[in-house]
Amino acid sequence: MSHELKTGGDRGYLRIATEEAFATAEQMDAILRLVKEGKADKGTVSLWGFYGTSPSERTTFIRERLLDLGELRIAAMDDAGIDKAVLALTSPGVQSIHDVEEAKGIASRANDQLAAACEKYPDRFYGMTAIAPQDPEWSAAELKRGKAELGFHGVQVNSHTHGTYLDEPQFDPILRTCAEEGIPLYIHPQGPPDNMIGGMVEAGLEGAVFGFAIETSYHALRLLTTGVFDRYPDLQLVLGHGAEGLPFWIDRLNYMFNAGVRSQRYERLKPLQHPLHYYLRNNVWGTTSGLPSPASIRLMMDVMGEDRVMYAMDYPYQYVPAEVELLDDMDLPAETLKKFFQTNAEGLFKL
Ligand code: CA
Repeated sequence: MSHELKTGGDRGYLRIATEEAFATAEQMDAILRLVKEGKADKGTVSLWGFYGTSPSERTTFIRERLLDLGELRIAAMDDAGIDKAVLALTSPGVQSIHDVEEAKGIASRANDQLAAACEKYPDRFYGMTAIAPQDPEWSAAELKRGKAELGFHGVQVNSHTHGTYLDEPQFDPILRTCAEEGIPLYIHPQGPPDNMIGGMVEAGLEGAVFGFAIETSYHALRLLTTGVFDRYPDLQLVLGHGAEGLPFWIDRLNYMFNAGVRSQRYERLKPLQHPLHYYLRNNVWGTTSGLPSPASIRLMMDVMGEDRVMYAMDYPYQYVPAEVELLDDMDLPAETLKKFFQTNAEGLFKL
């Protein structure tokens, strides 16, 4: 152990963890019911069939910690030196649910529950709104309620909704509201939809290990390549897990995207106002959830700019306090570390 982990800024910065998960009991019940009744997609069956029912020590810890918005979570934060947590309803939110009224009710009540916890721990917990993209107009209204009435700081969308993506025209009310209201849009993974998952479950690769990043980076790229950020230059997209690998791929993505546009090979691809790199530096933020890798973090900072890279722990899925020490010790200037752990998140989420 290189140093003791304390809250309060003894290393020159507060630590803000920006992708932290909670669940509500009725959300878990509803998803497990879908799994049991054979109505969930393969990704949800694999994810929640496991996390929801496995008796292992790891999954029992995760279930217990997801449902807690109180002292257990505060103690875990204290032990890991985390001053503040930005919280969101865990993947898949309510997006696997087929009954739209049920989905909206569960999301809305989760928002109320989270708001109450944030009120109880006002300098520790900050909320992001849960929505049900199945109903885009309702979601736009819930985003406004989340910001104006519940004091939330962003929205988490758990990637696809039954295989549909936010660049599709029916979701415009959600994008427009995020852009107009200054609400950061955090696209968080879930399992790939049935028409994409292929043999990934059999290979053991559909979840956080790999499939999440493939599906979520695909989602983000659909937004980038269809001109969403030319339409909404103020829209701010947040991606976890090292911006889902996009900084590593960006030169190839940009070269081949532009080759595809020039060849007029695809009906949907039109020239953009800027190279794809531009959007990574002006519209996309990356967090380090599940990727406490100094090499990856330096790459993200090189490609996206050090003002757009933020710390995230991914509690309770990856609760490893030693990773915090590792990142404290990154070979970066003190001012860069402060941006990474504290001020970038304060600026984006208006904490
Ligand atoms: Ca997560």
